Amino acid sequence: MLVAAQSVREKPVMLKIEDLSVSIGDRQILNGVNIEIKQGEVHALLGSNGSGKSTLLSTIMGYPQFKVTSGRIIFKGQDITNMTVDERARLGVGISVQKPPAIKGITLQDAVQMTTGLSGNNLDVTGAANRLDVSYLLDRDLNLGYSGGEAKRSELLQLLAQSPDLIMFDEPESGVDLVNIGLVGNAINELLHKNELRKGPRAASGLIITHTGFILEYVNADKGHILCDGSITCSGNPRDMLEHIRQFGYDRCRICPSPNGGAQ
Ligand code: ADP
Ligand code: MG
Repeated sequence: MLVAAQSVREKPVMLKIEDLSVSIGDRQILNGVNIEIKQGEVHALLGSNGSGKSTLLSTIMGYPQFKVTSGRIIFKGQDITNMTVDERARLGVGISVQKPPAIKGITLQDAVQMTTGLSGNNLDVTGAANRLDVSYLLDRDLNLGYSGGEAKRSELLQLLAQSPDLIMFDEPESGVDLVNIGLVGNAINELLHKNELRKGPRAASGLIITHTGFILEYVNADKGHILCDGSITCSGNPRDMLEHIRQFGYDRCRICPSPNGGAQ
């Protein structure tokens, strides 16, 4: 009886996006987006260029230029819609952006030390830097002159230092060669298992934007969503969706009479 009761126990909801509409300046970018991610789940976000994928991640992180015009963002049961980036990061929201800005005068080592200090996370920085092949970057200015792969790996080291409960990645495979994509994939899994190195269920949740789907060879996604002109038009099995997109492109998403527009 106990086993049966445990097996049906629902995982807690990590992130709930309710009817979220967002504008930049006076232009509306997202229209009524709904997504629910449970603890341990990874969702893939697909969609053509300009459909609003990066806007969604930036809004969840709380970057101020993205104005929520309706709806709510609930994280671990708390309404974070009006919180600052800093408050969200402290609560456990983390992001790896596509093109992290260069910061002169702050080294990667400084950034990692500040983050571990704030998060109280006991990261073995030397070991993690070796695994990510970024040891030689620790004394360099953050992202200054880094290659695409170096910037991605340095972002992952900072995320390991933060150890967030929700990890968002904006196209983790872009600008990364085939060798580095394995490193990136392993680090994402390490983050999702919160340093348990794939033992047991995932402790954290993920939301990953991917164009190519390469990253899903390394990180198993539970659900996919297609964003089209700022609305979720389809949610389902990410592998089936990617196959469909490879065959037909995104054009059909505009006309697809999806019965579950925005549904889970
Ligand atoms: P995606 O990541 O799906 O390619 P984005 O979220 O980056 O799409 O962009 C969605 C739309 O919002 C695009 O038309 C883009 O030009 C616009 N946009 C994104 N960021 C800004 C910004 N900072 N200022 C003005 N428009 C923006
Ligand atoms: Mg984008």
